[in-house]
Amino acid sequence: MSATETDQPSGSSSVRSAAPRPGWDAYFMTLAGEVAKRSNCRRRKVGAIAVKNRTIISTGYNGTPFGVRNCDAGGCLRCASDAPPGQSYDTCICVHAEQNAIALAARHGTSTEGAVIYTTHKPCFGCAKEMIQAGVTEAVYAEDLGYEPHLESVYSLLIQEAGLRMRQFSPERDSGS
Ligand SMILES: [Zn+2]
Ligand SMILES: [Zn+2]
Repeated sequence: MSATETDQPSGSSSVRSAAPRPGWDAYFMTLAGEVAKRSNCRRRKVGAIAVKNRTIISTGYNGTPFGVRNCDAGGCLRCASDAPPGQSYDTCICVHAEQNAIALAARHGTSTEGAVIYTTHKPCFGCAKEMIQAGVTEAVYAEDLGYEPHLESVYSLLIQEAGLRMRQFSPERDSGS
């Protein structure tokens, strides 16, 4: 995995980049951002990575389910409508990035028990429930979407009672260890 020391051609130390080596949080969050670029949702591009023992076990981005026309090709009527962000989710057929990371792990027989999920956006209520049920122990997110207060209080209670650790990614706090 850490081939950085050995994959340098000999005598190339003078061209070595001065950029600091990213910490684990930054490493996985950057990759989650790359995964998000594959999203076919016309609303928002979200990426998630499931990690166990610092190894990626699954990835997911948001979009319509397999076999269904892509969201950006008109596959999801809700996303194509003028429904305000965060509303009318009952009719949204897009699978969320975190749901996809969990479902695709299940599909391939990979346990998510004890996994950490790195996601570009704060998990929604549904994704938080699914993470808990899939044995995910920690969620690290980059962007906070700012839920309405009444939802936030139920959300916090759920997270707290279930013991799901949740924190916002902070580049400054990432020690690089
Ligand atoms: Zn969509
Ligand atoms: Zn979600």
